[in-house]
Amino acid sequence: MSFDAEAKMQFLFALRSQGITDQRVLHAMEKIDRGAFVKSYFPERAYEDMPLPIPCGQTISQPSVVGLMTQALELTGREKVLEIGTGSGYQAAILSQLARRVYTVDRHRRLVAEAREVFQSLDLANITAFTADGSFGLPDQAPFDRILVTAAAEDPPGPLLAQLRIGGIMVVPVGQSDAVQRLIRVTRTDQGFDYDELRPVRFVPLVEGLAKDG
Ligand code: SAH
Repeated sequence: MSFDAEAKMQFLFALRSQGITDQRVLHAMEKIDRGAFVKSYFPERAYEDMPLPIPCGQTISQPSVVGLMTQALELTGREKVLEIGTGSGYQAAILSQLARRVYTVDRHRRLVAEAREVFQSLDLANITAFTADGSFGLPDQAPFDRILVTAAAEDPPGPLLAQLRIGGIMVVPVGQSDAVQRLIRVTRTDQGFDYDELRPVRFVPLVEGLAKDG
């Protein structure tokens, strides 16, 4: 299936019905073809609102969750963003349309290599992908205006909080790995951190260290 007018219409309809109302987010999700990231694994499902398996036992998130997380970041186009959990690269590609610069890291070398290829093929030149343990953030590039964690942590990791600029926003799923997690938005103020809860979600866990098998 291709991302033709009909597929786009249904895709955008599903997103709107799940509460994605921000026109800029909808526009970015209309522009970036999720099929390019799902590739050969489940091409016929690329435009359905469901998570799908990708290599290394990971998943590409459900489009409506990608939309909600992106919307919660309140991007204006000027931000330097860090994403933890590159996975397929789809979320980073959406962010690249709405922010100035996107850094994305994954503990699986293979996923980073494959995502880089897609970024190049789509000419998404403002994304830099690294193989790294994202629990420690990217101290060399800090501070960040926005941080998006796309794997579930028990608590928002301290190094990530420290790398968030004052006035910055971090969105992170928190909770025990297999249970339902809560999607949390953390806003850094000059006094400390404000937390608000967005909705229940289910993500793969944030795992320590680089993957041994690539
Ligand atoms: N954002 C992705 C989906 C992420 S799935 C997309 O758009 O497709 C979660 C990803 O987090 C997996 O690829 C997993 O390898 C990665 N991950 C888990 N723990 C990590 C860690 N400590 N550092 C970096 N990446 C991690």
